[in-house]
Amino acid sequence: MNAPPGTTAASLQHHFTVDVEEFFHGTAFEPHVPRSSWDEWPRRSPEVMDRLLAVLDEHDLRATLFIVGWLAELEPDMVRRCAAAGHEIAAHSWDHRVVAAQKPEAFRDSVRRNRALLEDLTGTAVVGFRAPSFSITPGQEWAFDVLIEEGYRYDASLFPIRGHPTYGYPDAPADPHWVHRPAGALVEIPATTLAFGGRLWPASGGAYFRFFPYGYLRSAFEQAAGRGEPATFYIHPWELDVAPTVAAPWRTRLRAFYGLDRTWPRIERLAREYRFRPIIETVDAMEAPDA
Ligand SMILES: [Zn+2]
Repeated sequence: MNAPPGTTAASLQHHFTVDVEEFFHGTAFEPHVPRSSWDEWPRRSPEVMDRLLAVLDEHDLRATLFIVGWLAELEPDMVRRCAAAGHEIAAHSWDHRVVAAQKPEAFRDSVRRNRALLEDLTGTAVVGFRAPSFSITPGQEWAFDVLIEEGYRYDASLFPIRGHPTYGYPDAPADPHWVHRPAGALVEIPATTLAFGGRLWPASGGAYFRFFPYGYLRSAFEQAAGRGEPATFYIHPWELDVAPTVAAPWRTRLRAFYGLDRTWPRIERLAREYRFRPIIETVDAMEAPDA
């Protein structure tokens, strides 16, 4: 626990996380933008991240940036600028393949290569990982063992919700906790949820941040703080941009791009109202687990 129960969200430090990737990395676009055509699209992340870095700097906030390896290799200066601005650099896989679609050895290669590149670019240890599309789901716990063996100290891939078609780990605790595995232990930092009507609902970023009123996120932050725990917010660069012209079903486009005009004003409000620190500082402050 980070603070006494009953703490208010404004007095705690939370986690502002960005999954740094292009829109076509999103799992929903996989059927519509083939991997073989990724190179042909303009990369918008560098420009968007510069704008975001300026907002974070203005409010003296430090974030955790989970960066796709494929993008980092093509945009090394973006990675260096993010690190130089004082943010924590973490891994988001090499090529955004979901965990269940990979054999353990392919997953290992992906997280090893991602980490090595980011460490080369920044000169700083990379110890955090978030799976593409929160894709550590029940049955994929072997991924924790690979992460531990590859030197990662924390994971941020679990979404403790039920009912979502592609992700969710319903029985995960809602707050930061230790995960014990045959390979050792690592800290899990789940995406923040809102408890309502006897279950947990996604509330902490992405489409939920754009679709629902701002007060929904704020309630989730207050609930976490009431338990003495930090909240974890997430967003993507393509949610802070104009919608691209891409041939995809309207449902896919709606979910990915609806409400983009709200994102910046809400980000600015979030940055004004709450304090954020890198996840690694929360991990460092957590007591070591019993063996
Ligand atoms: Zn992603």
